[in-house]
Amino acid sequence: KEELNMIQGALELRTKVVEEVLTPLGDCFMLRSDAVLDFSTVSEILRSGYTRIPVYEGDQRHNIVDILFVKDLAFVDPDDCTPLLTVTRFYNRPLHCVFNDTRLDMVLEEFKKGKSHLAIVQRVNNEGEGDPFYEVMGIVTLEDIIEEIIKSEILDE
Ligand code: ADP
Repeated sequence: KEELNMIQGALELRTKVVEEVLTPLGDCFMLRSDAVLDFSTVSEILRSGYTRIPVYEGDQRHNIVDILFVKDLAFVDPDDCTPLLTVTRFYNRPLHCVFNDTRLDMVLEEFKKGKSHLAIVQRVNNEGEGDPFYEVMGIVTLEDIIEEIIKSEILDE
């Protein structure tokens, strides 16, 4: 029964799109690019429990410019109050973007290629008067796709 469910879940990757499984931007734990890695910021990062943290510029949470991996903090001493930018510039993690209407089987293929297992989800916003523009909707990770295959939540450690 469970196997049948998983096969069905796997087949459904071909009909589902990223938009259906993403974590909306409003729910994302992110950092401002001008943050300082002092004790309080580092504690907050560790408390969030996430391994990858999008970094945005200015007051615009849409404007994601970097990803911080929590492991990048290994050599950071909170007492030094290192600017976040120093760390993100050093590691320069690639940003990987997908569109909201990309099929999940396609995203899985991308993730399998071993780039980052987290992608920023964009859509083309052509509502309103002005020119269409890209708008960030949220993030999607390998775990979101695996959950679709096994059809249940994976609880974090
Ligand atoms: P982690 O390894 O950080 O726990 P996973 O890739 O296992 O992240 O994803 C677990 C869930 O958390 C997924 O639903 C994913 O969309 C979400 N997620 C990942 N990173 C973040 C983040 N920085 N803020 C909010 N949600 C996140």
